[in-house]
Amino acid sequence: MEFRYDANQSPASASRRAEILANPGFGQYFSDHMVTIDWTADLPGQEEAFQAGEYLKMVGEWSDARVEPYGPLSLSPAAAVLHYAQEIFEGLKAYRHDDGSIWTFRPHRNAARMNRSAHRMAMPQLPEDVFVQAIEELVARDHAWVPNGEGQSLYLRPFMIATEEFLGVRPAHNFSFHVIASPAGNYFGGELKPVSIWVSRDFARAGEGGTGAAKFGGNYAASLAAQLQGASRGHDQVIFLDRSPDESLEELGGMNVFFVTKDNKLITPKLTGTILEGITRDSILQLGAEQGLEVEERRITFNEWKDGVASGDIQEVFACGTAAVITPIGQVADREEVHTTPSTDFPVANALRNRLIGIQTGVEEDTHGWMHRLA
Ligand SMILES: *Cc1c(COP(=O)(O)O)cnc(C)c1O
Repeated sequence: MEFRYDANQSPASASRRAEILANPGFGQYFSDHMVTIDWTADLPGQEEAFQAGEYLKMVGEWSDARVEPYGPLSLSPAAAVLHYAQEIFEGLKAYRHDDGSIWTFRPHRNAARMNRSAHRMAMPQLPEDVFVQAIEELVARDHAWVPNGEGQSLYLRPFMIATEEFLGVRPAHNFSFHVIASPAGNYFGGELKPVSIWVSRDFARAGEGGTGAAKFGGNYAASLAAQLQGASRGHDQVIFLDRSPDESLEELGGMNVFFVTKDNKLITPKLTGTILEGITRDSILQLGAEQGLEVEERRITFNEWKDGVASGDIQEVFACGTAAVITPIGQVADREEVHTTPSTDFPVANALRNRLIGIQTGVEEDTHGWMHRLA
C-alpha cells in the first residue's frame, strides 16, 4: 500500500528526546508521528455477503494510508467507538540492536491476532502485510525514538476504532486504524522483583462465548475494578478464575500465567476462548520445550496452585506478556489466605526470560526466524 507522509513541523528537539529516552517509563511519551488508515464500507458488497450467509464479512476499502504528525484525533461525539466500544488493539516492541539496526518480534502474529479480534468485534480485516508495513513506515520516520538502553524499546500500539457518526446499534460503516509509538523502559522498574497477586472473586474478566480471546479495550475496562480491589490490599496484579465449580485459572488482566513443577514440567492454562492467546506465551512454550521442559497446556484449578506451592510440587509461578516479558509471581492472596511460591530465585523463569530477551535484543541467535527487521 502507498503511504503518504505529512511531516510533523514541530517535532521534539533532539535534547528533549534524549531527556525522554533517558527515563521513558511506560506509555507516557509519544514519538513525533503516527499512522492512520481509513476504512469505508462498501454497503452493496456487504449486503451481498450478508445474504450469502457471511454475516461477519465486513466488505469495504482501506484508503488514505499516511504517516502524519502525532496528535489528537478529530471524532464526532456520536462516533460509535465512544458509545458501543468497537475498539481493538495490539502491542509489540521495536528493539535497537548493537549495530544500530531496529527489529521487531513476530509482527505477523500480531497482525493475525488483530484480525481475529476484528472478526469477533464485527470490524474489518486489515491485510497482514499492511499491518506490518504500517509499523515499518512509522519506525522509518521515528527511528530516533527507538532507545538503546538496557531493557528499553519503542512500544508500538496499533489500534482500530469505529468512527462512524451514528447512534444506532450495528457495526459501524467507518473505521480508522492507527499506530502510535511510545518509548518504554522496563515495565516493572529495574530489577526482577517477584510480584504479589490477588485472586479476583468478586469480578470476572471474561465469560464463555464473550470477548476474552479478543484484544479488546472493554476487557481492560472490565478488569479495573478487580485491579483496584487487589491494589487496595497491597497487591500488584490480579488473577481471574473461570466461574466453573472447579475454579480453573484464566490469566492476569494483561498477562498469561505459567507454572514450573519440581519434575520439570512447564504448565499454562489451555486456550478456552476466555483467555488471550499471548505471543509471549506461545514463544515461551516453544523455548521451554527446547530447554528440556515437558510442556503442558491444560486446565489448572486454583486448588492445584494452592496445594502445589504448599507441597513444593510447584516451584515457580510467573506471568508473561510483551510489556513486562516475564514477571515472577512470589505469592497469591485469596482474601486473607496467602500462598507463597517456594522458589525465591526463579531459575527457570530467568532462563526463559534471558533466552527470549537475548533473541529480541539480537545478542542470541534467532533460531526460529522470529525477528523482523524494521530499519
Ligand atoms: C496482550 C495480552 C496478553 C499478552 O499477549 P502478548 O502477545 O504476549 O503480549 C495477555 N493477556 C491479555 C488480556 C492481553 O491483552
